[in-house]
Amino acid sequence: MSWLNGIRAKSISVMLINAGGCTGCARQFQAALLLDSGKGITLTGNPRHADVLFVAGCINNKSADYLKEIYNKMPSPKAVIAAGACACEGSLFRSEENGINPLEKVLPVNTYVRGCIPEMDKMLEAVINVVEDGYKEYKDGWDHDTELER
Ligand code: SF4
Repeated sequence: MSWLNGIRAKSISVMLINAGGCTGCARQFQAALLLDSGKGITLTGNPRHADVLFVAGCINNKSADYLKEIYNKMPSPKAVIAAGACACEGSLFRSEENGINPLEKVLPVNTYVRGCIPEMDKMLEAVINVVEDGYKEYKDGWDHDTELER
């Protein structure tokens, strides 16, 4: 990893999206950041500043379009995390008429944090690991610049 990417990996901006569902996963992640702010992870509302897109909840037709739009605005290297049973597998909502589950049908997912609700530590670990791995791979041509069609 280059020294610049090493520094970037220690100051991670995360865009948190609750795509549907009960909001439990999104709240759990926010609580994890509040309780353990020393890990260098901050939330951003601007996709152009985000290293990681952290998606919780069920993805439906409407939220799928927004997720692709946000993903396309993020600079590379970037990573996507599916958090919770809803984003990973669709959970109870997978047979809903308006549901597109799981998240991997919409975006290239780098890692999954499973559970309902996933543990706080696992969420934070996933963010740190995905960024460190992503920057290592990026040096060798990791490329997610391809624009997704809506
Ligand atoms: S996985 Fe569980 S806690 Fe997370 S959004 Fe779905 S129902 Fe809520």
